[in-house]
Amino acid sequence: MIEKELGRTGEKIPAIGLGTWALYGERGEEALIAGVKAGAYLIDTAEAYGTEPLVGRALSKLKAEGVKVFLATKVSPEHFHHDDVIKSCEGSLKRLGLSTIDLYQLHWPNPSVPISETVKAMEELVDQGKIRYIGVSNFSVKQLEEARASMKKYDLVSDQVEYSPFNREAEKELMPYCEKEKITIIAYSPLGHGQLFKDSELRIMLEKIGNAHGKSWVQAALAWLVSKPQVVAIPKASTPEHAVEDAGAGDLVLTPEEVSAL
Ligand code: NAP
Repeated sequence: MIEKELGRTGEKIPAIGLGTWALYGERGEEALIAGVKAGAYLIDTAEAYGTEPLVGRALSKLKAEGVKVFLATKVSPEHFHHDDVIKSCEGSLKRLGLSTIDLYQLHWPNPSVPISETVKAMEELVDQGKIRYIGVSNFSVKQLEEARASMKKYDLVSDQVEYSPFNREAEKELMPYCEKEKITIIAYSPLGHGQLFKDSELRIMLEKIGNAHGKSWVQAALAWLVSKPQVVAIPKASTPEHAVEDAGAGDLVLTPEEVSAL
């Protein structure tokens, strides 16, 4: 598994992690465990997903086996007032069965709460040892700059945004900014919410590239995303087979010609 530095932290995270939105039941838990064991040891959840208890069960089994996990979760925008952020974090810690969250993210911008108030609470959580790093999600460059300007002690390490071979919006402004500022882009919906599963010219090209490396077209799509220096991807897989396949993209290096063709 290729690893990348998270922001400027010096901490390594895997190029491929595991999303958990709409992940259910024992099969979902098994998928997470299999994916982590295959090298995709970044798990992403959110208080809004309702999947923290399931993730917590998987974490406790992995911990019992001594398997390392980097855990990311999110606070919802309706909880961005100071005391609500603290309360949300405590709720997530409890549901996850953890004493520290590795990456705590603001799920969406909320213009009705001053960002300075929200990041103050996030910085306090770092000082209290309840979270290790502060990230955001769905933030534009302008919103990243506003948040960063309000921070007193720490910096943002990541922005989680939609990025897939079908949605390349992030490449316009966000990616150049994040490359310059060393902020990790966590690509959500990297398989295009299933769009990629429809026949298309792009799908045919991905199949061809995957075949050339003895990999699947899904793996070629994920490898293309993480060929960008600041990008890691978090596909959601509901079965151990899919999770292991997705993790298997983490050692696929496409040629420069393949990257530019895509
Ligand atoms: P996605 O990962 O682009 O696509 C998920 C679909 O791909 C599912 O239908 C899944 O099928 C399928 N799949 C995964 N691996 C596969 C494989 N190897 N072979 C065939 N099919 C495969 O979409 P997503 O769930 O929207 O995004 C992923 C994660 O991003 C979410 O779970 C969540 O953690 C995060 N996210 C964040 C935000 C945000 O606002 N921050 C928004 C949306 C999503 P199965 O389920 O059958 O395996």
